[in-house]
Amino acid sequence: MTKRIVIVGNGIAAITAIKAIREIDLDADIYLIGEEKFYPYSRIRLSKGIFDQLSEDNILLQKKEWYEQNGVNVFINTKVVSINTDNLELLLCDGSKVKYDKLLIVTGSSNNIPPIDGINKGNVYSLRGLNDALNIKSSLNEGEQIIVIGGGIQGLEMAWILYQHGKKVVIIELLPRLMPRQLDDRASEILKNIIQDYEIQILTNTGVKKIVGNSKVEGVLIDEKIELKCNMVIYSTGINPNKELVSNTKVETARGIIVDNKMETNIKNIYAAGDIAEFDNAIIGLWNIAIAQGKVAGYNITGKETIYEKITPVTTLNAFGVSLFSMGCIDELRATKVLVDEGINKKSYKKIFVNNNKIIGAIVIGDMKRSPLLKSAIEKEIILDEVNLRNISVEELLDKLKNNK
Ligand SMILES: Cc1cc2nc3c(=O)[nH]c(=O)nc-3n(C[C@H](O)[C@H](O)[C@H](O)COP(=O)(O)OP(=O)(O)OC[C@H]3O[C@@H](n4cnc5c(N)ncnc54)[C@H](O)[C@@H]3O)c2cc1C
Repeated sequence: MTKRIVIVGNGIAAITAIKAIREIDLDADIYLIGEEKFYPYSRIRLSKGIFDQLSEDNILLQKKEWYEQNGVNVFINTKVVSINTDNLELLLCDGSKVKYDKLLIVTGSSNNIPPIDGINKGNVYSLRGLNDALNIKSSLNEGEQIIVIGGGIQGLEMAWILYQHGKKVVIIELLPRLMPRQLDDRASEILKNIIQDYEIQILTNTGVKKIVGNSKVEGVLIDEKIELKCNMVIYSTGINPNKELVSNTKVETARGIIVDNKMETNIKNIYAAGDIAEFDNAIIGLWNIAIAQGKVAGYNITGKETIYEKITPVTTLNAFGVSLFSMGCIDELRATKVLVDEGINKKSYKKIFVNNNKIIGAIVIGDMKRSPLLKSAIEKEIILDEVNLRNISVEELLDKLKNNK
């Protein structure tokens, strides 16, 4: 059995790994080291929390006594500064050193900081951790007009929450469409119209040139002359995996730390999972994937050989009075057949992408009742051999999927 397992980073991937380890190995010493000053908490509850009773205790992933009950030595407020892979040793921010037999790196990601002049002004925020959420919460009464930079899922969720609490919101997106990774042009247009019905202004194809104001933000410049007034900016412009920790080591990286299907890196006894882990050339940055990878890493660390089965990412948005689902590949160029159905109310939309008799992706806006059929067909790679795809409608295809269940 392994003597000492050290886990760097204390998010959901870490917790799931600990559970998997303890299923198999009750004896190993487990060290959990996290930079934030909080015990592991649910990051996905932060956005909604900014208008709620937000505190560490309300969103903990596990009660604090759970760690002692499971023999986990917890170090919070402790950044791991470097790794010596020859001596199997970590250097902590206070200068102390910790030895490991097996190491799991689950350092997650940070929000991308767009290179905009003025991004460091007061009342300019980005939401990644509990500290950010508490800071945003404490200055919300100063922010009546809020500009959200970034029209991806997180930016939109934030805009909706702010709007529901009486804030005047403008969304600015650099690319020509909202949720560019999950929606095609038409779906994005439909979503944009739905959002604009709430009198939320959306500017796509628009870059922020500068954030203006003295110590605190007073507006943003969207070209040399146009200034949009605001008293708060929240930006949400993608993520960057926290991989600096391995920068002077032989651990192989690309966008993140490269792992195989056991979540092991190129260095024996060093594993990675969650937002930091790059598997099959991709970093997905989703909660359920961090859970699945953390579990696989945990089992393999104990010696129980387990393979990570790739998960097709699913994005859902429930906001602006509408539900939205996007899954898999939504690139028409990679599809041999595309089925589309748009409601006459111009508020509903279904698009299914088929490649070689398999559904590879789908977008649904509006009625979600039959989305699970699409999810299951994509996940199980169901073969549509008996379906004549030439003249079939979206609903007829969904009927066939239902009957084939
Ligand atoms: C506001 C918000 C809402 C989200 N909503 C959703 C959602 O609805 N659905 C969904 O699927 N995903 C969502 N996500 C993404 C999801 O939260 C992440 O995919 C998930 O948290 C990744 O888990 P992780 O354990 O890999 O890393 P993280 O949760 O990022 O945890 C990593 C931890 O490691 C620490 N760390 C980093 N470097 C060091 C170091 N050198 N030393 C010590 N500690 C270190 C970090 O401080 C952090 O606490 C959301 C993310 C945010 C920010």
